[in-house]
Amino acid sequence: MRIIAPSFTILDELDQQSLPVRIEYCGRICYKSENRIDSGSAIPFVRKMAENGHNSVLEMGVTTLIATCATPEPIQALFFRQPKFLHIDRLDDRQLLITGSVRAFREMLLFHPDDAISLAIVRFLDSRHPYFFETLPLAADPERAVGVTIEKMGLAAVDRLAPPMHARHRFLAVRFIVNRAVTHELVRHRPCTFLQESQRYCRYSADKFGNEVTFIKPVFFEEDSEEFALWRQSMEMMEARYLRLLETSSPQAARTVLPNSCKTEIIVYANLLEWRHILSLRTSPAAEPSMREVMIPLAEALRQRYPAIFS
Ligand SMILES: Cc1cc2nc3c(=O)[nH]c(=O)nc-3n(C[C@H](O)[C@H](O)[C@H](O)COP(=O)(O)OP(=O)(O)OC[C@H]3O[C@@H](n4cnc5c(N)ncnc54)[C@H](O)[C@@H]3O)c2cc1C
Repeated sequence: MRIIAPSFTILDELDQQSLPVRIEYCGRICYKSENRIDSGSAIPFVRKMAENGHNSVLEMGVTTLIATCATPEPIQALFFRQPKFLHIDRLDDRQLLITGSVRAFREMLLFHPDDAISLAIVRFLDSRHPYFFETLPLAADPERAVGVTIEKMGLAAVDRLAPPMHARHRFLAVRFIVNRAVTHELVRHRPCTFLQESQRYCRYSADKFGNEVTFIKPVFFEEDSEEFALWRQSMEMMEARYLRLLETSSPQAARTVLPNSCKTEIIVYANLLEWRHILSLRTSPAAEPSMREVMIPLAEALRQRYPAIFS
């Protein structure tokens, strides 16, 4: 058994990568198969996700686009369809700033195949990343997208947007290594995308996990206290039972004895507006101390990066 401290990493470097690289990195957290990432692995990985309908993995690739329309009708039509999971701002009468994930754009077209802006966006993305759209009926009348032009807004330009728009359109991923009680609370925040290490797929008796279960050191007990000793004993007992069950059962069956203290990894991906909301709830004195343990330093790090939003 291993005991580690909780931690977090803001995935700044990942932000600079292409959509498939970002999606693969996040998707592999579920299986803890990051060791299989190499220079050619991203496209086959995301193609498989799209084919198999693992749509939540495709939420980890968000992009910001500018849609310019020759007439106002496509804009009215888009709003009439009440697009879901897209962040849209009007730049002027003919131009929209639209931020969304690969999944949101795919589903916008699936549910509204006759929508001009959705079709123009998917055609634009398809010309760069065809593997995301191979299973979509792109044959919809291409004439429908005539008069709508799509351009990409790069991350540097998104970071130059004024604060209210910047907060809506700038997405940020944070990887947390915390206990399962913390992730259970984190996933209550609805306008986020999450991918988490799966106890159904991960077999902690395997070599790559060190043949042991890892636990997060509880914030509540001093290391030389009686309570800590009792906690430690309980974890040892649970680990022994888990490893024993694995001799005859699957990880998903054996995990039923694993406790809240079990270490897990989760990537939380949200725009800065949602991060501000999460941090205001999860750093407050009313929040759970194990949550505050990671959220207070994260709030400080984000204040330094984006003072106009997090001060
Ligand atoms: C100190 C503390 C104690 C808690 N105790 C409990 C508890 O005892 N039991 C329990 O079940 N939960 C508890 N929670 C969880 C809490 O109820 C929320 O589920 C969680 O904090 C998510 O926050 P949220 O709903 O404000 O916003 P999020 O889900 O983060 O959503 C962000 C924003 O999106 C909008 N939004 C998202 N979904 C909707 C929607 N469906 N309709 C309208 N607007 C929406 C709202 O504007 C919202 O502010 C607790 C949370 C905290 C911080």
